[in-house]
Amino acid sequence: MGKVYIVGAGPGDPELLTVKAVRVLKEADVILYDRLVNPEILFYAKPGCELIYVGKEDGKHILEQDKINFLIYEFATKNDIVVRLKGGDPFVFGRGGEEAIFLKEKGIPYEIIPGITSAISVPEYAGVPVTHRGVASSFVVVTGHGSKGQFPDIDWEALSKIDTVIFLMGVSNRDKIAQNLIKAGRSPETPVIFIEKGTTKEQKEITATLKDVAEGKVKVYPPAIFLVGEVVNLKDKISWFEENLKKVEI
Ligand code: SAH
Repeated sequence: MGKVYIVGAGPGDPELLTVKAVRVLKEADVILYDRLVNPEILFYAKPGCELIYVGKEDGKHILEQDKINFLIYEFATKNDIVVRLKGGDPFVFGRGGEEAIFLKEKGIPYEIIPGITSAISVPEYAGVPVTHRGVASSFVVVTGHGSKGQFPDIDWEALSKIDTVIFLMGVSNRDKIAQNLIKAGRSPETPVIFIEKGTTKEQKEITATLKDVAEGKVKVYPPAIFLVGEVVNLKDKISWFEENLKKVEI
């Protein structure tokens, strides 16, 4: 029986891997990787390592997760070191917890290697701090998608009171999300930013107001972070990465 490592690959920039992640990637006999993992990271794999793509589109289905669990199990019975590589951090909307529960039930030993989540690092690469003294003393990370692909069931009143609200998987529901936040009391003039493909050479930033989003004026493509809050105004003072990147203002 082999060992499984559930590993966070970080948000995209290959240098945002942990030292521990690099070590197990070099040792792995098999790497099962997700859609949002930067393929450049796979160059760490040793010759002969099996690379298996198990990416799922947004609005994933239970059955697919079952299949992935089964694959991990099969590989673990036939290999010494199996790496399950996930974008960002495995426990932030990454279903890493489900895989760990499955492995424990099957009696397969595992370790979890945290990764840098896109929720915080992608805004950072756009010059937006999720907290800032005097501007934001709280932040929250929320899914913009329900578990079966529907609109998420969220306490909008509570959410509208958090200084910085960060949506993952929020692109397709962005208009409705913005409408709900405004209805719950958030000012329509609140600045927002969408950051597509953050921390990569294709990073693209779109700044607007909550009202613009609610009115369907913002064009954006996944994967993107959708961040709402006054901290967006700090961007001009802090930005450092995007000199040559695409910028759009609404
Ligand atoms: N476990 C991951 C999140 C998985 S959910 C993490 O910790 O980062 C997938 C969502 O993450 C995407 O829909 C998008 O909202 C966000 N995301 C992941 N990588 C991203 C990137 N490089 N740029 C922008 N958004 C990203």
